[in-house]
Amino acid sequence: MKIEEVQSTTKRQRIATHTHIKGLGLEANGRAIPLAAGFVGQVGAREAAGLVVDMIRQKKMAGRALLLAGPPGTGKTALALGICQELGSKVPFCPMVGSEVYSAEVKKTEVLMENFRRAIGLRIKENKEVYEGEVTELSPEETESMTGGYSKSISHVIIGLKTVKGTKQLKLDPTIYDALIKEKVAVGDVIYIEANSGAVKRVGRSDAFATEFDLEAEEYVPLPKGEVHKKKEIVQDVTLHDLDAANARPQGGQDILSLMGQMMKPRKTEITDKLRQEINKVVNKYIDEGVAELVPGVLFIDEVHILDMECFSYLNRALESSLSPIVIFATNRGICNVRGTDMSCPHGMPVDLLDRLIIIRTETYGPADMIQILAIRAQVEELVLDEESLAFLGEIGQQASLRHAVQLLSPASIVARMNGRDNICKADLEEVTALYLDAKSSARLLQEQQEKYIS
Ligand code: ATP
Repeated sequence: MKIEEVQSTTKRQRIATHTHIKGLGLEANGRAIPLAAGFVGQVGAREAAGLVVDMIRQKKMAGRALLLAGPPGTGKTALALGICQELGSKVPFCPMVGSEVYSAEVKKTEVLMENFRRAIGLRIKENKEVYEGEVTELSPEETESMTGGYSKSISHVIIGLKTVKGTKQLKLDPTIYDALIKEKVAVGDVIYIEANSGAVKRVGRSDAFATEFDLEAEEYVPLPKGEVHKKKEIVQDVTLHDLDAANARPQGGQDILSLMGQMMKPRKTEITDKLRQEINKVVNKYIDEGVAELVPGVLFIDEVHILDMECFSYLNRALESSLSPIVIFATNRGICNVRGTDMSCPHGMPVDLLDRLIIIRTETYGPADMIQILAIRAQVEELVLDEESLAFLGEIGQQASLRHAVQLLSPASIVARMNGRDNICKADLEEVTALYLDAKSSARLLQEQQEKYIS
């Protein structure tokens, strides 16, 4: 059982630009601190989000979802991530964009389902018995009693394990014994033996088993019961999607834990409904037995207005499920048609789904907030900018968008280095602004030079 080998399939790239966000930055009374946990401004939205976190903790969000509505680049993703972090450090965060559901190969609901399962975590706890003891010589009587069923060739070589409660008679089989000899374990040495349900799994000189002795994994021998001196709890966090993917291999069987080590190399495999049901069954069994605990995470669906009726009805149903993460939608649209219909609805979402939503507005940033955010991003990316450059970048952010301004940091640092400097100055920023268009200027240019483009 090598659960430590399960690889996570978390989507990391998409949250790379939000690494500075460490939470919502609220005081204990729920008030937003102007700059805390990497968060700047957006005070009202952060406080509202804090209340939602409380509701989630009190399990009052079942069947409901959150909608973040506001112009592009107003920190909606950052806010969703902040909520997730407030819920706990190992709570899964799965960001996706509405348009992801439209793929030529995979059904829309299948894409949604996969992302739902990426946002549901499972904490698997494994209790290990670890014996700690000193190797000692046994008395002839003890030798007599313990060598009973063993082969003559090893019966004259004796070791015992002296534990805090006295000498233990370990019924070591030849493999383990050989391993001890090979490691030159002598009388007086302290050794650790890890057992699972009374069977020896590993023997080593430290309880981290870093210098693990070479044991054949299959050859376990029974340990005397009732002498557990240390208990180690090994915790493994995975998502339901990790389990789906790990078990989608052709040789997939029934037992999750034994299959977790078989994590496939990234390649396309079919995860069927039947497989998911099997996984759910085993997961529920583990939860009932207290071996595993469910950790509902956050599924963030940006640009939700791009989804169509089929997706919305799927979401409506999925929110009702007992295996549902916290779903946070985001949109920058006001009243518009639900995709594929002539139904005009707020945020392009059907009314029955809107009914389930708590809506939080995000506001556009003023220059001071924007400069503050840019300064944080520059620091995270280990870039040095002087005041003048930051102010200039803040202006660009105001005219174009915050995201555009943040994105100029990397090319500007390259230009600075090409000019033989480590720090970015205004001239570098001017150079890159001349090179790259932001979305607004690009749109303006297209409008002005319409006749030059094929329409
Ligand atoms: P939206 O989802 O509303 O478009 P976003 O969260 O994706 O916004 P971006 O437009 O990508 O934000 O913002 C650019 C950068 O600014 C990101 O790195 C984001 O984390 C950061 N950012 C946005 N708002 C804040 C804020 N209030 N405090 C700190 N950082 C922020």
